[in-house]
Amino acid sequence: MFKTYDDLKEFIQENEIKMIDFKIVTISGKWNHLSIPASRLSEKVFTDGIGFDGSSYGYAVIESSDMVFIPDLTTAFVDPYCEVPTVSMIANIYEINKKFDRFEGDPRYIAEKAEKFLKESNIADEFIVGPEYEFYVFDHISYNVDSNRQAVDIDCFEAHWNTSAENNQGYKVRFQGGYHAGLPYDSTNDLRSDMCLRLEEMGVPVKYHHHEVGSAAQVEIEVELGEMLKMADATLLAKYVIKNTAMLHGKTATFMPKPIYGEAGSGMHVHMLLKKDGHNIFFDENGYSGLSKEAMFFIGGVLKHAPSLLAFTNPSTNSYKRLVPGFEAPVSICFATSNRSSVIRIPGYAKNPEKKRFEFRSSDGTCNPYLAFSALLMAGIDGIINKIDPVKEEYGPYDVNIYDLSEEEKKKIKGLPKSLDEALDALKGDYGYLLRGGVFTKQFIDSWINYKYNKELVKINPVPTPMEFQMY
Ligand code: GLN
Ligand code: MG
Ligand code: MG
Ligand code: MG
Repeated sequence: MFKTYDDLKEFIQENEIKMIDFKIVTISGKWNHLSIPASRLSEKVFTDGIGFDGSSYGYAVIESSDMVFIPDLTTAFVDPYCEVPTVSMIANIYEINKKFDRFEGDPRYIAEKAEKFLKESNIADEFIVGPEYEFYVFDHISYNVDSNRQAVDIDCFEAHWNTSAENNQGYKVRFQGGYHAGLPYDSTNDLRSDMCLRLEEMGVPVKYHHHEVGSAAQVEIEVELGEMLKMADATLLAKYVIKNTAMLHGKTATFMPKPIYGEAGSGMHVHMLLKKDGHNIFFDENGYSGLSKEAMFFIGGVLKHAPSLLAFTNPSTNSYKRLVPGFEAPVSICFATSNRSSVIRIPGYAKNPEKKRFEFRSSDGTCNPYLAFSALLMAGIDGIINKIDPVKEEYGPYDVNIYDLSEEEKKKIKGLPKSLDEALDALKGDYGYLLRGGVFTKQFIDSWINYKYNKELVKINPVPTPMEFQMY
């Protein structure tokens, strides 16, 4: 929206903006924020920054937790969720040292370094990504999903004969039958339209929205493809808009990968392509499924590093409750065309060569998009540099339903990690490809692993689950 400080100042005066709000990205990919009165905004904020305690963001250790952020005014938007007229913008993080350097662990800086490395390596100029946001909307009529599937059928059967108001099953989405459900079953249609129009107004073009498979109001919004850093910013903005708009409508939106046992999980598939001199280099009409050599090597890199990549693309314990057979979520390290059971799917319908691409289906909404996109790019670059041929490596193509293969054939396909512990172990043993060009640092990878172990796993792993009570 703004290019210079003067543009911003002028907008503030003309529109009687009262507050300036800064969104600072935490290590886990959430926006924390801090506000100042618009009257106190000076150019100094953009040179000297504002100090904060990095330890509460998951970054710095307590002994050296002083950090500084400097807002990026090119990310400014009018924040419709503040009653007082407010302009918000995303900030970059700096370390307080003699030289006042960018902080190596700032997710936005990691994404910037990854984009720079791509250009310098001469492979391509732009990494174009298109995330798909799946989420559940709660406080909503939902089936009583029981651990025993039969129970659901019995519920439905009984409900059919029971017409009392509280048992009214009319216009409820059928179990696992919600994909593209129409009105009046699709009761969050207007909520999503509201979300999409707000996103468009804030500069994020929306491709479409629809109901997803999950019957308890699982829905999806897809946005248009764009450059990686911009799309990581757009992802946090989209989550902000989705959650805040839901709240205005008296609902809650969750990106938790598997909020309900037995229902479909929510992914954040990422479509990808590389552009050089303004053209998509992933297209070749003679290649497998219309893909070029570069695209195939990129796929090879992503598949080779998939176990360690998941430590960034699927970084929660709940992520692994989604990656199970039977729900269109991937479980195997392989690629295919139009096949939703493989971790890389090449859409069969991309008519326009400039849009030829593939999607990584594992990632979910608990990822930090800056880290996830950067790690995917670095894995792809590794594939291109080392010419990792996914066919020779026997990663596919598997143009069949992998869930239906014989046990013998299934054995050939490697599985994705089954837990966060497993993914973090894989990262410990495979991170060299992330260090190229100083994009990720060893120190940052160590602090990521420590953060996941000490702030999440030690809290979650010792807690007995409802199913453990039933079993034991
Ligand atoms: N919800 C599925 C997943 O977990 C995807 C379903 C779809 O987009 N067709 O990835
Ligand atoms: Mg989609
Ligand atoms: Mg979907
Ligand atoms: Mg998809």
